[in-house]
Amino acid sequence: MKSDIEIAQEAELIHIREVAKQLGIAEDDLELYGKYKAKISDELWEQVKDREDGKLVLVTAINPTPAGEGKTTTSVGIGQAMAKLGKKAAIALREPSLGPCFGIKGGAAGGGYAQVVPMEDLNLHFTGDFHAITSANNLLAAMLDNHIKQGNKLVIDTNQVVWKRCMDMNDRVLRNIVVGLGRPVDGVVREDHFIISVASEIMAILCLADNMKDLKDRLGRMIVAYNYEGKPVTASELNAVGAMAALLKDAIKPNMVQTLEHTPAFVHGGPFANIAHGCNSVRATKTALKLADYTITEAGFGADLGAEKFFDIKCRMAGLKPDAVVLVATVRALKYNGGVPKDKLSEENLDALKKGIVNLEKHIENVAKFGVPCVVTLNRFVTDSDAELEYVKNFCEERNCDFALSEVWEKGGEGGVELCKKIINTLETKESHFKPLYDINLSIREKIETIAKEIYGAASVTYDAAAAKSIDRLEELGYGNTPICMAKNQYSLSDDAKKLGRPENFNINIREVYVSAGAGFVVAITGTVMTMPGLPLHPAAERIDVNDDGVIIGLS
Ligand code: ADP
Ligand code: MG
Repeated sequence: MKSDIEIAQEAELIHIREVAKQLGIAEDDLELYGKYKAKISDELWEQVKDREDGKLVLVTAINPTPAGEGKTTTSVGIGQAMAKLGKKAAIALREPSLGPCFGIKGGAAGGGYAQVVPMEDLNLHFTGDFHAITSANNLLAAMLDNHIKQGNKLVIDTNQVVWKRCMDMNDRVLRNIVVGLGRPVDGVVREDHFIISVASEIMAILCLADNMKDLKDRLGRMIVAYNYEGKPVTASELNAVGAMAALLKDAIKPNMVQTLEHTPAFVHGGPFANIAHGCNSVRATKTALKLADYTITEAGFGADLGAEKFFDIKCRMAGLKPDAVVLVATVRALKYNGGVPKDKLSEENLDALKKGIVNLEKHIENVAKFGVPCVVTLNRFVTDSDAELEYVKNFCEERNCDFALSEVWEKGGEGGVELCKKIINTLETKESHFKPLYDINLSIREKIETIAKEIYGAASVTYDAAAAKSIDRLEELGYGNTPICMAKNQYSLSDDAKKLGRPENFNINIREVYVSAGAGFVVAITGTVMTMPGLPLHPAAERIDVNDDGVIIGLS
């Protein structure tokens, strides 16, 4: 079997103007970045905004193994298969971050014969959006420290600076640093922190903003620090909004690329799903909905994180109405959830599968809580045995849950035709009664507890003293009526990555709570979730290279 990058490099791409044409986009509405990448002009939105929306399908998954379970692969494959059935489909995905690309997981352009291309560009610098976000983030940090140095008119308490610098890299030594060392002209000394760019509030804002005005309003509301009276100091008070918006001017326009079978794919924005809200931009999703009859979008990690935030944050804020959910399961993740170690997942093990399938069961129940019809798909690996596949199929059918095997990794669109027929049938016969999980006007604690109990299956929630204090303060300051962005590990439904399957009788501990006032949500951090990941003993970066002909190898 060829590697993902080999398949991607052998693909014959068509000019992006031909890809865009399939959705009726004229070349005039494209801003070309070479032959295979383009941004969509603002004017296009004005032309199409009053059209009726197509169907919105969310692809999510059970709790994954560390390698990912194929949500992107499946999303791309569904898009390709829809085209095979003669349907007008578009895919809406996140842009990959360099962190996982060089770390453990590898890139995020799909896999096998279901990929978006050009794969190397996508996984590396693409159209520069992450650079723009990182720059805007760090411009604000520079202006903040300069303000403090130049007399601190806003009486910022340097012990209560909450804005952090960012970089799109897994670099653990930057989690906690000291800035301003040296002479008086070198600034005021204080403890500072780096986060990965995909955890920056600006990333979340870029993905939630409707237009430039909304983007600027949101940037202005971002809290950078608290003053000595405990009042928030915002980016707008630092007069940083205009310059940040200038840096983001092109980054807010959705990018378009193609799948291996030339299906149009919007790839735009990329907040992580464990520490941020985990979905591509609202602008990309809305544009796709206006242009295609079927929009296939992905939310990161398992449905406990990605889908919950897609529904409760993105859909709620943007007024989106998802029509169906595709829940991706793999035999290997089910066995992993049944206690099989990572290196033994290729061996048939029906007992572990039976033990781990409770994880799928819980996610099926969870999706139902949002009122959206669900199709389960098993992303087939060559190592899966027939008995294992049969077991999962029966499990779903006994529960009256639509099920289809997906072979898009091995066969491309052809391998997703059966799945697409199921999806279309579901869309045509089952109505979506989408509703968010919780009422936004509940208290912060009530909202956190609703998510923890209903979605994770927790018995109780506890709060570290600092988190409890933050919650009280945020409610006092008037930030209580926002959705909650839970930060949790992706492997378990609980806050402990080792509790696999469907854990019960566990407690969720909230370690830290803060508001992202511009994004419009309160972040609640559980367990040991990091906003700046580290690299493993042997990072993927050790295997990446460029040969003498300029061809990249080793990217996965
Ligand atoms: P996710 O979006 O859920 O994180 P991806 O679609 O990015 O997962 O897939 C993760 C990795 O698994 C990719 O490297 C991809 O090539 C590989 N993969 C996905 N599906 C299959 C499959 N059916 N067989 C083999 N490898 C697969
Ligand atoms: Mg993915």
